[in-house]
Amino acid sequence: MNADTARRAGLLDKLARIVRQCTDCPLHEGRMNAVPGEGPADAELMLVGEGPGRVEDETGRPFVGPAGQLLEELLASIDLTRDRVFIGNVVKCRPPGNRAPLPDERKACSKYLGKQIEIIRPKVLAPLGASALSMFAHDLASIGRMHGQVMVKKHYLLVPMYHPAAALHNPSLRDTLFRDMSAIMAALRQAGGQGGAAGSPSEPGG
Ligand code: URA
Ligand code: SF4
Repeated sequence: MNADTARRAGLLDKLARIVRQCTDCPLHEGRMNAVPGEGPADAELMLVGEGPGRVEDETGRPFVGPAGQLLEELLASIDLTRDRVFIGNVVKCRPPGNRAPLPDERKACSKYLGKQIEIIRPKVLAPLGASALSMFAHDLASIGRMHGQVMVKKHYLLVPMYHPAAALHNPSLRDTLFRDMSAIMAALRQAGGQGGAAGSPSEPGG
């Protein structure tokens, strides 16, 4: 890790410590653990979910429940593993009963996601599902229309995809999710990133 990446990893750690103590919205009341997100400070791809579920709340780690298993399969389909990607959420504390986070809760928590994006400077940012997409697009944006499409933003390419949990409820979305993940790989290449393993012959296993 070079000095700049180490410095940024330090900033992410510091932010994670602040998140774990945060009481800025009512979601802190029901949490076991806040889930700040995890991944390399120089990740080229950042995935943003809605908020922690039960297993995430118990462990303090993002996407480690059933949706996380599918997410790992999706990443494997483009030769990525979760340790090469930054995985975060719009809200860092579990909404009761896994309900969608409320607008005020998303607003209170968005400063942390904003800082994470600033520190990591991903080449490609993928909101997972409607709730995450709403943080990055105009009010009428719809995941049904925008999933799998590459949008050029000032600092990154935005590629919304369906939330993996959606395919657990509706198996017909599985194929769509894998196609969305291919669009993410194409965007990584477009952005000059390494994309999958195929693009990084000089870094075996790294
Ligand atoms: N669903 C999410 O949106 N985020 C997680 O971390 C896990 C499940
Ligand atoms: Fe703080 Fe975000 Fe947790 Fe609300 S959800 S308490 S803003 S970390």
